[in-house]
Amino acid sequence: TSSHLETYVHDTLTSLKQSSPAQTEFYQAAEEVLECLRPLFKRCPHYLEHNIIERIVEPERQIMFRICWVDDNGYAQVNKGYRVQFNSALGPYKGGLRFHPSVTSGTIKFLGFEQIFKNALTGLPIGGGKGGSNFDPKGKSNAEIMRFCQSFMTELYRHIGPTTDVPAGDIGVGAREVGYLYGQYKRMTGRYEGILTGKGLNWGGSIGRKEATGYGAVYFAQNMLKARSESIEGQTCLVSGAGNVAIYTIEKLLELGAKPITCSDSGGTLHDADGIDLEELKEVKRTSLEAYREQRPGAQYITADDYPENGHAVWHIKADIAFPCATQNELTATDAEALLKNGVTCISEGANMPSTADAVDRFLEAGIAYGPGKAANAGGVATSQLEMAQNSSMEQWPLEKVDEKLKAIMANIHQQCADTAAEFDEPTNLVLGANIAGFRRVADAMIDQGVV
Ligand code: GLU
Repeated sequence: TSSHLETYVHDTLTSLKQSSPAQTEFYQAAEEVLECLRPLFKRCPHYLEHNIIERIVEPERQIMFRICWVDDNGYAQVNKGYRVQFNSALGPYKGGLRFHPSVTSGTIKFLGFEQIFKNALTGLPIGGGKGGSNFDPKGKSNAEIMRFCQSFMTELYRHIGPTTDVPAGDIGVGAREVGYLYGQYKRMTGRYEGILTGKGLNWGGSIGRKEATGYGAVYFAQNMLKARSESIEGQTCLVSGAGNVAIYTIEKLLELGAKPITCSDSGGTLHDADGIDLEELKEVKRTSLEAYREQRPGAQYITADDYPENGHAVWHIKADIAFPCATQNELTATDAEALLKNGVTCISEGANMPSTADAVDRFLEAGIAYGPGKAANAGGVATSQLEMAQNSSMEQWPLEKVDEKLKAIMANIHQQCADTAAEFDEPTNLVLGANIAGFRRVADAMIDQGVV
């Protein structure tokens, strides 16, 4: 009955909150998914009979380890390392590694949880996992980064494998780190195999992988706009972040004739009303975004201090479309209200859970095109799976082939989200669509595989 259902969802959430009091991000992610599943459980009570909810919010395995490494002054340093192998119903665990001082076990657990549904939405055979460390790459020398990566892999290697768990990059982990991690894996095992994705192009990497998350977020926006008989051409766009995802979002927007006017880093927001000069951005990104103004004096660099409490400068600039590509909870209810007031019509999330729960509610109430991260940024992990496929067949596909597949995957994710949203009588609610469609695929696989 429906009151039984209410009690069940409520009790599960309460017990989650009690058992993980400090894991606020994980709770936020789990609450969103569970709230969206109510209409599904009403129609399909067998998911409750199999107790899928309690089973899916518990990681299959969580590994925590110590990472000791020697800094350039000869001092021994210590960091915490994590790998969460969350759910393998659909295939080997797949998900990135994040190196950032803010990382806790709760951060990795939330990212791993999101990854389950994201990976399910790609339609590809990959389970959900995530890992990382509270190591701060900022200000570290190349040699320190290498020693840290080697120490990290010295512990991680025993837990991963090409058909068990395949990590990749995330914040703070790019091609360089993947290279050092990969080298150490080979040194430890003597095996040359695809245990990481995001590898270098001449040693097993996929062409198009580094661009895939950003390009995919733009393709997802195109799909949302198309469904509303609109197009991306000529639209002014806000992009946050200045990492891999932001850069390739900007690149694709420029290619499609849209006008990206911002990006941001931890110090502030760069605003170039004439449109971001990508070459200049790639140049200054290595030092600081502020330096961009030396070549483009018309641009502004707005520091964080000038901004409303609980708000972020980038979301208070007038534009048509927004691409949050920095990090979790970077876009608050205050920001959402500013965006809506300025007439934004579309949000496509390149980052994982960049909008707070209140911000998401604002977007859904307003009925604008809102693509949640687990759908809109799935192009990255999808292309990682294409890298795995290339590794196991010892092939390297040309860019055209990878990009064509990426486009098809993003269109398919959008279609699934939209169809599922319509099936549950909320045709514009892609959050509902993404959560139900992703959950259903994982839950059906879990039921098929029995209680394990
Ligand atoms: N870190 C990316 C994500 O959040 C990519 C993961 C992967 O390629 O395995 O999906």
